[in-house]
This record gives sequence, structure tokens and C-alpha cells, in this order.
Amino acid sequence: MSNQIETDGAYIRYEFSEFAGNLEPVKYEMPVPQGNEVLLKVDYCGVCHSDVHVHDGYYGLGNGKKLNLGDRGIRLPVTLGHEVVGTIVAVGEDAIDASVGEQRLIYPWIGCGECSVCQRGEENLCGKPASLGIFKPGGYSEYITVPHPRYLVDLGDLNPANASLLACSGLTTFSAIKKIQPLHQEEYVIVIGCGGLGQLAIRTLRSDGISNIVGVDVSEDKREIARKAGAKVVLDPRSLDATDTLTREADGNCMAVLDFVGNEQTVEFGLKVLKKGGKLVVIGLHGGELRYPIPFLVTKAVTIIGSYTGTLAEMKELVTFANQHDLLDIPVEIRALERAESAVEDLSNGKVSGRIILKN
Ligand SMILES: [Zn+2]
Ligand SMILES: [Zn+2]
Repeated sequence: MSNQIETDGAYIRYEFSEFAGNLEPVKYEMPVPQGNEVLLKVDYCGVCHSDVHVHDGYYGLGNGKKLNLGDRGIRLPVTLGHEVVGTIVAVGEDAIDASVGEQRLIYPWIGCGECSVCQRGEENLCGKPASLGIFKPGGYSEYITVPHPRYLVDLGDLNPANASLLACSGLTTFSAIKKIQPLHQEEYVIVIGCGGLGQLAIRTLRSDGISNIVGVDVSEDKREIARKAGAKVVLDPRSLDATDTLTREADGNCMAVLDFVGNEQTVEFGLKVLKKGGKLVVIGLHGGELRYPIPFLVTKAVTIIGSYTGTLAEMKELVTFANQHDLLDIPVEIRALERAESAVEDLSNGKVSGRIILKN
């Protein structure tokens, strides 16, 4: 039996060759997977907000300072896209665990595989990242190469389009929630930023049996979405007495804050409402600087945790969890892969209410 599906010898990637430049279709010769490599046809690829940052080439650090991604080892041209579901079309001679025709979710947060961090299973935190869609070509493409079958996860019964979101949005949310557990039934979780990730966090928390959830957002529409997703209380953080209201509503029991915005105001707000021993998990990358009185860090014994994507083990656990709970029933817009540029543009301009998923 052949381990290859016939392709016409070339394929298209939508890539940019300078930061903030156009996403141009570029023709590549079809690769032949070697060793453990697996070649997949991209079926669906989610368009994530971090694609906008990578495309821009920087993250804001506050006070006009920028973290320049070009200095962080991102080489041009870049083919974005790290939320990919694809179908295996060819496998290398050593990739015995992968078979042509299987549809799989790809774990994109690949590391060097050799350092202590990778050995511990935290490839997403490796100092020599090889993440797909950032450091290696991603899913804004007709085909994608994955270095080893271990990064491919069976979707079970999940809808493959929506399941693409599990590789980043879903995983990021799931990993952040794992960092605040265990929680006592009476304790509250504050979700700051009720857009895509915040909404998914609320649904995940609810599915996990946690009902004391407060959704915080400046947008009334998003507060409404948070309420529908299962938040017990919703709040506009700009209202004058927001912190007092929150402390009162939660009966002084704010044990955890998930900050999906990550700017100076939200972090300050989160630290203010946490009770002693509470945990602030920052996931958002809006930027800014953290200033906090050090004695409070000690006397309140709060934990400040940064959370970046998640591990391969967590993604597998999440896929199982999503098969058991109704997580992915969220508004999505399916857009043709050729329109990748418009998707990044719309997301950058805040014109997207649900999630855009590119379809090849
Ligand atoms: Zn992402
Ligand atoms: Zn490593």
C-alpha cells in the first residue's frame, strides 16, 4: 500500500515577507516527508489574535516600548496559522504511528525536544521554539509538515472546523484554568475580558462544575455574551465602585482571576480584588508594565502567574474534555483560505465578533 496520496507537485502558502506586509500566495514544491515527518493537507485553520501580533512584528511593553519579534528569532517570510486540523497525505519512513487519510488536530507549540523543559513535557516553554505558524510554516497554507506523529491528536467526535480552536484558544484557556485549581465550591473566579477566550473560559469552568464566575468587560455586548456563557455576575470595570461591587458580590471570596486582556488596568484590578492567597493568571498580551507594592505580595500572599499556551498533554486532555462537554458551540465564521489576509486585517481592526476559521 502506498504511503502517499498523489498531489500535483506544488502547493500555496499565504505568507508575508516583511512585518505588517501583505499576505501573498507563494507557490512551493510539495515536500516529501523524511524520517518522522508527517505531511498533512490543511482542512481548517483558526485565525488567532496572536497572528495579528506576529504579523505586526511586536508586542507592546507599555510606555511606548515594544518587544520586537524580529529580534526574537522569527525569520521572514512567515506563514501564520497555529490552530490547524489537517488530513495526513504522506508520512516519513519512521512515522509509523501515522496513517494516510487520518484527520488530526496538530499540536503547534513544538520545542527542541531535548532540553530539560521539553523533557518535562513543557515544549511550549522551550527556549529554542519551533512553533508552527510562528517559527515554522503554519496553517495559512494548503499543506503543512509536522516533525513527528506525536504532535497529532485524534479529534474523536468533534466538529473539525471548531476543533481547530483547541490548539491555541482552547488550550490557552484550559491550561490557565488548570493553574487556579483546586478551587473550593464557595470561591469565585473572575474572568477579565469576555471575548473569544474569556467566553471559552466561562464555558470550560461551567463544564468543570465551577459556577461562581464573574465576567468583567468594558463592552456591554461581551458582558451579555459572558452571562449567556454562564457567568453568575457581570461587571463593567470602569464603573466607579467596580472593585467594591465585585468584592461584595463575591462575598470577599475572589480566589482566582483569569486576565485575558493583560494591560496595566486589568492587572491592577485583578490584584486589587483577589483575596489572601489568591491567584492572578495573566493570559492577555495587550501590554504594559506591572507595578505593585511588594509588601502586599507578601502579606496577601498572592501568586502572579503568566500562562502561555499549554502542553501537549494538556491538549490531549482538553480534546477528551471537549468530547464530553459542549465547549465548542461558539459563533464562528468559515472563510476561504485565499482570504487569509482579510481575516487578519478584520481581526486587527476589531471587526470580528466570533472566531474566523479558514477553510482550505
Ligand atoms: Zn493563538
Ligand atoms: Zn527544548
